[in-house]
Amino acid sequence: MSDFTAADFGRYDPDRTDEHKILTDKALVPCRMCWDIFARVRLTLRFCGSCKRAFCEGEHGNFTGRGPAVCVRCFSRSSSQLASN
Ligand SMILES: [Zn+2]
Ligand SMILES: [Zn+2]
Repeated sequence: MSDFTAADFGRYDPDRTDEHKILTDKALVPCRMCWDIFARVRLTLRFCGSCKRAFCEGEHGNFTGRGPAVCVRCFSRSSSQLASN
């Protein structure tokens, strides 16, 4: 049901963003926040429209279905005044 058969476990590469890996290479990419914070590999096809880094939907970002998806890092950065937790 999917073309995504490969996974790219490399570190985030600004010259070859997660957006590029997912859309062009059709590769699954590990959520960068799971990786950085928990040293956990959780493959995803979601990427942040702002920083172009992969995130796992639900826990580390949201895909609204319209407009760009946003990871929690960019979300908290853009709405830091509203952060309550
Ligand atoms: Zn995650
Ligand atoms: Zn982001």
